[in-house]
Amino acid sequence: MSLLALLLACSGPDRPAGPNVLLLTVDTLRADHLGAYGYDRPTSPHIDELAASGVLFERAVSPRGATWPALTTLHTSWPPVRHGVRANGAPADPAAVHLAEVLGERWRRAALLTNAYGASWEGMGEEQRFDTGEERDAAAADAAERWLGEVTGPFFLWVHLVSPHDPFVVHPGGYDPVDPGYTGPVDDGQGPLVRGMYGAPAFTEADRAAVVARYDAEVAFADAAVGRILAALETSGHAADTLVVLAADHGEELFDHPPYLFHFHSPYDGVLRVPLVFAQPGTLPAGRRVRTTVALADVAPTIAELLGIPPSQAWLGRSLVGALRGRTLPDRPVYAEIGRQVLIVYEGSLVWLENPASFAPPLAPPLQLDQAGVPTELRELRFPIPQNGLWDLDADPTQQVDLARARPADAARLQAYAAAWRRQLGWPGPEAGAEPSLLTREALEAMGYLAP
Ligand SMILES: [Zn+2]
Repeated sequence: MSLLALLLACSGPDRPAGPNVLLLTVDTLRADHLGAYGYDRPTSPHIDELAASGVLFERAVSPRGATWPALTTLHTSWPPVRHGVRANGAPADPAAVHLAEVLGERWRRAALLTNAYGASWEGMGEEQRFDTGEERDAAAADAAERWLGEVTGPFFLWVHLVSPHDPFVVHPGGYDPVDPGYTGPVDDGQGPLVRGMYGAPAFTEADRAAVVARYDAEVAFADAAVGRILAALETSGHAADTLVVLAADHGEELFDHPPYLFHFHSPYDGVLRVPLVFAQPGTLPAGRRVRTTVALADVAPTIAELLGIPPSQAWLGRSLVGALRGRTLPDRPVYAEIGRQVLIVYEGSLVWLENPASFAPPLAPPLQLDQAGVPTELRELRFPIPQNGLWDLDADPTQQVDLARARPADAARLQAYAAAWRRQLGWPGPEAGAEPSLLTREALEAMGYLAP
């Protein structure tokens, strides 16, 4: 056999990945706070190593800065307007087809969840919840170690970690970039974060640095859990036969657009852009980086194709396997939303935003305001979102300069994509409280996906 033939036999373009799948998702993980995405603090040695061993997508977009809607899109390859989970706590349309269902009985399927329990994770045979304490990512890693140590045969293990979600805690013995001389109000609690957003009192520069340092400590804590799970995969002997996928549900505003600090009501890239890595050394190439804008809805079709399994015909995302194998992936519009209020369209480095009703969300829900003791007279403060805007993320990654007037042709093109989304998906969809599954079922029948 020639050397070339030998190489092709070992890593041929059509060699299936898997058969095992380890899906790691991290709540509230900003891509640009990871070394693999250019961050200058050592927050993520294990995620960086994973990324270097596989293929990294530089611009992967979440459909919503909220846990349930985003993770439901990852698992069902449907946007929120279709699967119906427009906010945390909403049920998914029963017609949504989950990746775990497509894998089926041949795979042992389990979810180890530190957040987003109670959502409909169809097809996941086993579910363990870790719902108390700031150390619950460590508990989930413990459980993953045990699970990987005993599993045999094909498996699909999903672990969802949560440390970077507020409040921002520095873990004893963990990475701690907080200035030891800091004496301000920011601590392990959520209260100072909420009060700071409302200016009670306003964040100082030192407070802002403390918030970001604490967020980074939480990223490092999640990264340590990722490292332990990947080490357990090696020890289990399954690593060579396991496709590892790492993603996040959404990021965090931090201080890109004051006064808002969190994620749920942000339409911006610090929240919508998420890390996305596919790795299986020996099967997928190492060290490849893909610049094309992709979506969380693309994850399920990609995993299915990599495993050699037919995708669900209902799925709306596209397989990224061509890009994983080194082919050029053409840009196409990628969509996100804030519920029924704000529609966002990505194309390449451009982002277009429409907020037709001038939605200006509150910075925090009433319960958090009460707990934080925000004075009544300050509670009317809102997060101002423009009626529309156009940004070029290559030149302006935190979206400070609206280019809609300067680049009318680009604005018109992305506006046309938004109009197409409204037409084809029925965005913004039914009012909250309506029965979302009815419309979706009708639409599916009309498209031939369901028998009437
Ligand atoms: Zn989340």
